[in-house]
Amino acid sequence: MADDPIEKLTKGLGRLPGVGPKSARRIALDVLTWPTDEVHRLADLLVEIKTNVRECSTCYNLAVEDPCPICTDSRRDATTIMVVDAVANLIAVERTNSYRGVYHVLGGRLSPLDGIGPEDLKIAELEARVAAGSIREVILANEPTVEGDATAQYISHVLGTSDVQITQIARGLPVGSDLSLADQVTLSRALEGRREL
Ligand code: ZN
Repeated sequence: MADDPIEKLTKGLGRLPGVGPKSARRIALDVLTWPTDEVHRLADLLVEIKTNVRECSTCYNLAVEDPCPICTDSRRDATTIMVVDAVANLIAVERTNSYRGVYHVLGGRLSPLDGIGPEDLKIAELEARVAAGSIREVILANEPTVEGDATAQYISHVLGTSDVQITQIARGLPVGSDLSLADQVTLSRALEGRREL
């Protein structure tokens, strides 16, 4: 049975976040009912994002271009950096249309229990951007979890000796909620209500 293509696809789909074994099998069987060219298109898209999408070498956003379209957009305020845990958070903030600065994606949260330390995140890279001199404000928008808060505290500590203003978005969000899932109004308010650290 291990060689059964339906079982193999079910296993592969089961790796997707939020897709359990039952859903995975349902999707696999559904794909079998699609026209062949639509199946090809989806398969091509999966290969295409893996082949063409890369990390921005400035902010660590994911995009086809490097630097990414946000970093190269001259209408944005390049003196304000918002620090987020992951690209999903950046996308959530972009969807609010209430932020015109640039970003820095850390690639995770400090979590000593899981062995994730400062060197595993893009913290030194953030320090380097700030040290380069043209940054006026760093807005910490880490997720409101124990790990997110620890990460924000650590960053505010390491940037403490620089001249940059460090602020944190308002924590109106329920503790443990996923910033990438927060609604747009809540996010806009959290941004407006940011406070200095
Ligand atoms: Zn970028």
